[in-house]
Amino acid sequence: MSDIYRQEKNWRNWSWQFANRLRTQADFEKYFTLTDSEKMAFLGKPPFAVAVTPYYASLIDKLNPNCPIRRQAIPLSQELTCGINDLTDPLNEERLSPVDNLIHRYPDRVLLIATEICHTYCRHCTRRRRVGVKKLVISHEQLNNAVAYISSNKQIRDVLISGGDPLTLNDQQLEKIIKAIRDIPHVEVIRIGTRTPVTNPFRITEELVQMLKAYHPLWMNTQFNHYLEITEEAKQACKLLVDAGIPLGNQTVLLRGINDSVEVQKKLVQKLIQIRVRPYYLYQCDLAEGIEHFRTPVALGTEIMESLQGHTSGFAVPSFVIDAPGGGGKIPVLPQYVICQTPKKVVLRNYEGKMFTYPEPNKKWKEE
Ligand SMILES: *Cc1c(COP(=O)(O)O)cnc(C)c1O
Repeated sequence: MSDIYRQEKNWRNWSWQFANRLRTQADFEKYFTLTDSEKMAFLGKPPFAVAVTPYYASLIDKLNPNCPIRRQAIPLSQELTCGINDLTDPLNEERLSPVDNLIHRYPDRVLLIATEICHTYCRHCTRRRRVGVKKLVISHEQLNNAVAYISSNKQIRDVLISGGDPLTLNDQQLEKIIKAIRDIPHVEVIRIGTRTPVTNPFRITEELVQMLKAYHPLWMNTQFNHYLEITEEAKQACKLLVDAGIPLGNQTVLLRGINDSVEVQKKLVQKLIQIRVRPYYLYQCDLAEGIEHFRTPVALGTEIMESLQGHTSGFAVPSFVIDAPGGGGKIPVLPQYVICQTPKKVVLRNYEGKMFTYPEPNKKWKEE
């Protein structure tokens, strides 16, 4: 595929990438021989949105049905079946939504759904109940209502603009949202959650970063799930963002058959810090509908954490979290390092499994 498409003169134009996304069985079959399971997923109308930028599709290994890029982009028949534990709204976001497009789960921060559109729809999307369905962009009125809610809740100091993918909006649409939030005096930090550096890196232009850097402090989190996604194009996108002073974090979803090994995760985090992207979260896969085939046992997550902590640069180690089903928020899950804790001492285990004792101070911590 890469040979055919990459000669396209608009290849590096993000709008061209968006407009020419692969969406139907016929689109994919121009370049790939689909497996029976993939074909079955397209029978009738696939239950969840499908669209893949030519760029992201060009990273697929055509000959390998288990290619980690392919498995994130092209649906399998397993998506048609709902597991007994699957939930339409696994994180109970609709109940935690005080006004349209705003999710208020934690006291000091909110998540704003700026759009339900993405450059590429991830097969493992946790918000698939709405993302790519009606393809709505936040309306003027909805934005006003969200801004009014944030304005009247002074404890909100951090606003996370997410979606969908906010970087499917053009610079003007995006700036309107960011500016409205920046104008709220008690909002300290703005964050953008986006997979664009992975799925349409050409969207990160000089003009975009010039606009964004006017609204600091602005942070950004992206989602690299495999080191094969760290291409020259993705590197360049991240460089533009980081050079504009935007700290970049990464949220990886742990996915069966895609990145469910110590080797892949270690290589991923080490490659991320080379492009100045700091691993932030490693997510246990949510209970969204039709994605049970991506789920791994929780013990794999702790095994991966064990293999990273102490074995590689501290800032390359993400936090492994389970976003609690039902809306409890993200809960960190750690390997057991504290072996025993008494008022006099704490017995700890290091990354090599050796035991150490830390004596507590004799002096009382706080006078009664
Ligand atoms: C993940 C999330 C946040 C941000 O959580 P952090 O742990 O601060 O990154 C905020 N609101 C909602 C609804 C979220 O899902």
